[in-house]
Amino acid sequence: GLADRLQGTLQKIRGKGKVTEADVKEMMREVRLALLEADVNFKVVKDFIKRVNERAIGQEVLKSLTPGQQVIKVVKEELTELMGGEQSKIAVSNRPPTVILMVGLQGAGKTTTTGKLANLLRKKYNRKPMLVAADIYRPAAIKQLETLGKQLNFPVFSLGDQVSPVEIAKQGVAKAKEEHCDYVLVDTAGRLHIDENLMGELAEIKEAVKPDEIFLVVDAMTGQDAVNVAKSFNDQLDITGVILTKLDGDTRGGAALSIRSVAEKPIKFVGMGEKMDALEPFHPERMASRILGMGDVLTLIEKAQTDVDEAKARELEKKMRTATFTFDDFLEQLSQVKKMGPLDDILKMLPGANKIKGMNNLSIDDKQIAHVEAIIQSMTRKEKEQPEIINASRRKRIAKGSGRPIQEVNRLLKQFEEMKKMMKQMAGMQQKGKKKGGFK
Ligand code: GDP
Ligand code: MG
Repeated sequence: GLADRLQGTLQKIRGKGKVTEADVKEMMREVRLALLEADVNFKVVKDFIKRVNERAIGQEVLKSLTPGQQVIKVVKEELTELMGGEQSKIAVSNRPPTVILMVGLQGAGKTTTTGKLANLLRKKYNRKPMLVAADIYRPAAIKQLETLGKQLNFPVFSLGDQVSPVEIAKQGVAKAKEEHCDYVLVDTAGRLHIDENLMGELAEIKEAVKPDEIFLVVDAMTGQDAVNVAKSFNDQLDITGVILTKLDGDTRGGAALSIRSVAEKPIKFVGMGEKMDALEPFHPERMASRILGMGDVLTLIEKAQTDVDEAKARELEKKMRTATFTFDDFLEQLSQVKKMGPLDDILKMLPGANKIKGMNNLSIDDKQIAHVEAIIQSMTRKEKEQPEIINASRRKRIAKGSGRPIQEVNRLLKQFEEMKKMMKQMAGMQQKGKKKGGFK
């Protein structure tokens, strides 16, 4: 993927004490290829390379003490800028309810994202949303939203499929006001392609309810098509932001990098899965870090903070930062982490995780957690604190005590060791990041 290619390229220059103009040019050629391969818009790539070149070949970089690091810093800053720089906030109307219109093509994820966004508004911002079912065309679309509403316990406003979407939207907003809901999310119909009827209807709804936000939902898997769709919708509706869905899938990432500069509107949220908690605010800087393989510790910690109790999360962060970490912590974290979702996803967010050989060995199937717990519980206190003392005879005893094969004990010890190594690496990167002011 994009991350691997960029990391490979940047690795070559990272430690260099002296960087020549030719080095930078050579590197930029590879960065350019990596971006094009990731399906980033051609013109966006061209401008990006031009900007990085101008800065990287400048005197401040070539004459600095760590030119390799400086080049990487420039690349990271420009990637961040490409995605809009700062994180965008969601609007709050001073005359509630805040009205959000969800628009996009069929299958992009509008209805699902409407549910997820309501969920996030309640969970993270403590808001009270109402959902409005204004897609009267797709069979069962109203039912789909009503089911989500029931599942998440949100009120859903609908008038069936015989009333015009404009009327439904209008009455829905009035109802939300009456019920003192502070957000109202209007789910609209999509088409397979952009057409005049669709745009006409959306423009009418816009005129009728004067939304504070118009979120365009686009499918990241569609690559450059997503970017073109964003441009058309913005030209015709003047959207306020983009929600990029299905970033959990096998996307090459090009859409995330191109949308802002082509459609001139920020990505506000990203969808990372089908579940109702799989929506995250979009942070350009963190995304840039992720692309460059510096990991995404902040998102990881944020996730821990909403899903896991806060004191424990803070402790988790500290242990990770200082890389002092025993099997007892591991056990505690397994139970915390179980609440946060699939372990693979969590591990992937750790810096450098994708560079570690045998990352697959490191991933732990959720079903195996019980076995892991049994093994750890069969260790003595001293063994948990100083795993290096666990020799062959101790391994045998632990295997027996836990009822697990000895190979499994060996594997766990090895995984634990690698995890610690990874954390050390991460702590190192954070230190470096702090020094150059690269992390917030
Ligand atoms: P709509 O036609 O725009 O309303 O699209 P839907 O909300 O019905 O979603 C279409 C499909 O995309 C459904 O199967 C969703 O579960 C799926 N989907 C939506 N968002 C995501 C996401 O972020 N990740 C994944 N993997 N699937 C998603
Ligand atoms: Mg829908």
